[in-house]
Parts: sequence; structure tokens; C-alpha cells
Amino acid sequence: MPASVHPSAAPFVPSEHSLPVLQSAVQACQGCDLYRHATQAVFGEVEATLATRAAKIDLMLIGEQPGDHEDKEGHPFVGPAGRLLDECLEEAGIDRRKVYVTNTVKHFKWEPRGKLRLHKKPSMQEIRACRPWLDAEVEAVEPRLIVCLGATAAQSLLGPKFRITQAHGKLESAKHLPPVLATLHPSAILRARTHEDRERDRRIFVDDLRRAMAFVHRSDKK
Ligand code: SF4
Repeated sequence: MPASVHPSAAPFVPSEHSLPVLQSAVQACQGCDLYRHATQAVFGEVEATLATRAAKIDLMLIGEQPGDHEDKEGHPFVGPAGRLLDECLEEAGIDRRKVYVTNTVKHFKWEPRGKLRLHKKPSMQEIRACRPWLDAEVEAVEPRLIVCLGATAAQSLLGPKFRITQAHGKLESAKHLPPVLATLHPSAILRARTHEDRERDRRIFVDDLRRAMAFVHRSDKK
């Protein structure tokens, strides 16, 4: 069946849900049309090497889609938003080795503007098509808590009516998933119009990350 009639990554997701197998298989995905204009699929990653990786991943952070930098380099959150994310994780006292970062959609969607490739929001159909990869990642990583960065990830997991502005920083539950908490996307913080707005959004983001870790610590004691 052509991808455009009933797009889904499902036929491309291998039955073995280990990260190395998934990371390799995603490059062959043609589950929707986004692979046609992207350099490569960008799968999730944990920063630690196998030798130093902590036994359990505390947080799985889910953004929207790879950006221009990520598409070229093949790694999630390596551009300016990634640098801000790293700073805020450090500020919140979070061990980066216990954080897995990924995106809702694995290929970069963009439109040309002169020589630039401008980010274009993925459609609900593309988000749904890519969901089997995200579900396979959750199964492979078994995070204690999922943190949705921005509306695309939050609405994908928590439903289209979910509003970050009203419900960020709160624990939510979703069928067949670990607990979920939603917060801002670092790119949205960078796009804030004034310095004051940017500082306010950054504080909200760090506070939400602290809440996420407080949940993980509480669940450790149970
Ligand atoms: S965006 Fe997702 S479903 Fe679409 S081709 Fe890429 S990996 Fe496959």
C-alpha cells in the first residue's frame, strides 16, 4: 500500500525492540512521505556509552522532530535548542547519563525559504504514522518518567486537547505508558520575543524538570 494512502511506520519496525536494532532499522523507514526530503532519520539517544550507562533511564525526553542541525548530524538536540536543554538539565541537577532524548517524528519536515530550510510542523497524520517507533523506544528504554517537550509530543501522547500552558509540570497518565509530564520545548524558549519572556520560560522549564526528578526520587523510595 503506498505510504500516502495509509501512512504508518509499523511495517518497518522490527520485532526486536533493542535500541541498536531500532536505530539501524529506522533508516529504511518509508512509513510516511517525510523520509523523501530529509538527509536521514534521527533516532533517540542516551549520552552515556554502554560502559558507563546507568542501569535505569530516569527520564525519556520527547521533542517534536529533528531540526536542520539534527538532520545533518544525525543526532537529536544538537543545535541551539540542544545546548539550552543541556544547560537546563544541569541547572535542574539531572544526571545526563540517565536521560534518553528523542523526537515524536524521526525525519525533518521543512520548507525552503531562499537557501534556508525552515522547520514545518508535522501533521497529525505524520505524527500517527511515526508513533510505532516511539512505542518501540519506550519499550526498549523503559523510562521511569516520560517528559514531553512541547505541544506536539504532549498532544501525541496525552490527546489533542492537552494544553501545555494550563497543564505543564503535572503528572499525567496515558494508556500503556509510564507516567508522563509535559513542559515547554527549548526551541519555544529561544523564540520568546523579549529577554524577560525568555527568562520566565526558562525558569518554568527548569522548575518542571525539577518536578520530574522529584517524582523519580519519590518513586525510588517506594
Ligand atoms: S517520519 Fe517516521 S514514519 Fe515517516 S518516514 Fe520518517 S521514520 Fe518513517
